[in-house]
Amino acid sequence: MIDYRCPTPAEIERAQAETLAVAERLVGEIVSVPDGERTYWNTLYRLEDVADLLMQAQGRYGFMFHVAEDPAVRAAAERLREALDKYNNELGFREDLYQAVVAYAATPEARALTGERARLLERVLRDYRRNGFGLPPEQRARVKALKERLVELELAFQKNIEEYEDAILVPREHLAGLPESYIQRLRTEERDGRLLYRVSLDYPEFYPFMDAAESEELRRELLVKFYRRGGRANVAILEEAIAVRDELARLLGYQSWAAYMLEIRMARTPEAVQRFLEDLRARMAPRLRQDLEELTQAKRAHIGRPDANLELWDWRFYHHRIRKERYAVDEFEVAKYFPLDAVLEGLFFVYQTLFGVRFEPVAPANAWHPDVRLFRVVDAQDGEERAFFYMDLFPRPGKYSHAAAFTLRGGRRLVDGSYQQPVSAIVANFTKPTPTQPSLLRHAEVETLFHEFGHILHQTLTQAECLRFAGSRTERDFVEAPSQMLEHWVWLPEVLGRFSRHVETGEPLPEALLQAMVASRLLHIGVLTCRQIYFAMLDLAYHGPGAPKDTTAIARALHPITGFPLPEDTYWHAGFGHLFGYDAGYYGYLWSEVYADDMFTRFEEAGPLNPAVGLEFRRTVLERGGAIDGAELVRAFLGREPDLGAFLRHKGIA
Ligand SMILES: [Zn+2]
Repeated sequence: MIDYRCPTPAEIERAQAETLAVAERLVGEIVSVPDGERTYWNTLYRLEDVADLLMQAQGRYGFMFHVAEDPAVRAAAERLREALDKYNNELGFREDLYQAVVAYAATPEARALTGERARLLERVLRDYRRNGFGLPPEQRARVKALKERLVELELAFQKNIEEYEDAILVPREHLAGLPESYIQRLRTEERDGRLLYRVSLDYPEFYPFMDAAESEELRRELLVKFYRRGGRANVAILEEAIAVRDELARLLGYQSWAAYMLEIRMARTPEAVQRFLEDLRARMAPRLRQDLEELTQAKRAHIGRPDANLELWDWRFYHHRIRKERYAVDEFEVAKYFPLDAVLEGLFFVYQTLFGVRFEPVAPANAWHPDVRLFRVVDAQDGEERAFFYMDLFPRPGKYSHAAAFTLRGGRRLVDGSYQQPVSAIVANFTKPTPTQPSLLRHAEVETLFHEFGHILHQTLTQAECLRFAGSRTERDFVEAPSQMLEHWVWLPEVLGRFSRHVETGEPLPEALLQAMVASRLLHIGVLTCRQIYFAMLDLAYHGPGAPKDTTAIARALHPITGFPLPEDTYWHAGFGHLFGYDAGYYGYLWSEVYADDMFTRFEEAGPLNPAVGLEFRRTVLERGGAIDGAELVRAFLGREPDLGAFLRHKGIA
């Protein structure tokens, strides 16, 4: 039975103690095997057992940190996460375990390994090298201490972001430009007999406000608050982390943290990433100039001041406005074609058709919250149950505030030959339906859903033998490619025609409106892409050689890449969660888009609902996970070397 009901804090504490005890017992078994008797099954496979045990406990209990309503549960889950991460980190430094693996690696059996098992051994040994095995003991101890410190810093950084709250309080008349449905959902407060509306930094409140609020002063005020998310404390945490990473990299013989991190990625070196970003920036420069000029003119015309400057808090507003005027595309109007139920129906239709699977609802869901639904993934060909996923789509206090796909249980081939069924969860924050108002998704949210669901497919359709390579456990700069490829589907008339459904009339999205949306997709692509280039270059600069670094000065110095100065007295990077977990990795979004767009060409040729190509994608990319290098997967699926052509075409600069 799949059971992810919300545990009590006491249950989490018990699970933490039990998990650590069982892990310790398994490790004891591994190290106590006499060297002459070492095999794949009693050494490497057992190591995977330990990883599996820890991962499942994280999925069952640690995950509650992101989704539980009760703060006491979240606190217990957080303690479990920290304890298991710490234990896992320590395992990577254990001399006895290392000696066990080295002894196994020396056996004839190990030398004869092929395929995934050979890759697993190579990766485990690589981890040890990257953890400082081979260094003198005192340096290795330092590596361990620094890695432990990083775990603490990451948790503190993310917690500061998740718990950060700020808002502006405004009277009704200052909400001009915003649609009624948006205003009605805002919380209100009474101050001195006046009713004030509270606009918070939560994405569903922040972004529509920046898009549509007429008041420049309030947009500025809200953006400045948004650019302080995480708080000053996070700047200090980040700077310590950067110094720790730099010291670690140098101890391990690398020039920089970026060099250390990129060694195991598709890109391989910081230089390759820098070249890619600079090349893209140069190609985008004329577009950025055009965009800024156009947006500036729009502002001057709108407010009737021919000398007005375009500011950072303006571009979304004028982008939205021009889009609406030129293409008659109003996101809130478009959203009326995307009631959540219709979107989910369409999403299921597309993915079931393409990938040869069925998603069947399971009741009871045994989930952590009554809003959450459970589905079973069934292979359409053999009718076999393959995996499960949860859908947790609506915001709640204390819940993870972005959209993401979490692996709760990874896939792997077990010793008895059976396949461990993966369990995943898609967590998002779409507007919750009310009895009078259905949940309407903005088109960007429909795209997000298709994207995150791509991760769910990657995680649940995996056929990797080893947990180490299961599902989305590929190179970090490749992992987004399948999901990014699947975003293309929400831009295709033959797909949208099937599931868009106007909430009042039931009509599908008109072809002309979709064409306008497609055309408007390239609107201000220069501004949009240069922001991504900025984030990537900032991350790379933070993780280049040398420390300490003044992160605020660097953020400010590079910010002109976006076409705007950074507002005074802000520290946007304090809320840049990717700097932990995606450190020296943000470029991966743009990088993997190259492969996503290239892989999409096969569907452009064969048709977006072509089940043969879909199944081929499932078999050659999704099912393989990290068992094969990303570059090889792409070559196998394309039948040729990948290139930049499709990517540049989709950015409008072919
Ligand atoms: Zn993603």
